[in-house]
Amino acid sequence: MDRPLPVIDDINRDCWEGARNNRLVIYRCGECRYWIHPPLEACPQCQSERVAGEEVSGKGAVYSWSVMYSKGNPGFDHKLPYATVIVELPEQEHLFTIGNIDCDPKDIEIGMPLEVTFEKINDEVTLPQWRPATGAAR
Ligand SMILES: [Zn+2]
Repeated sequence: MDRPLPVIDDINRDCWEGARNNRLVIYRCGECRYWIHPPLEACPQCQSERVAGEEVSGKGAVYSWSVMYSKGNPGFDHKLPYATVIVELPEQEHLFTIGNIDCDPKDIEIGMPLEVTFEKINDEVTLPQWRPATGAAR
């Protein structure tokens, strides 16, 4: 059984179109410039509906993570053990996204600098994923 994939709709389309083009895109309010993730129809700060995707730096840092050792999630059993990370983006305090990280889970530390990578699943879906930033001080 394959892994479950995101459902692309009018609210999140800019993110997935960006990922297909190897760009990390996050929604942002056109009025107050607040970054919004996951995508919403309106800005939670000023209620403006003028929200649209904008490319971000593709940098991030480990905010938290969890390592999976158990089987039972379709499409993931062959990757065990693997880590899922909560990544804080530098564009705004507590702007988080979630993904997998391409490194030994034992090497993960809070605050570890990351950079985005892109995992093409099929013609429609490319997933933003993460790896330790190259050249980062360790
Ligand atoms: Zn706003």
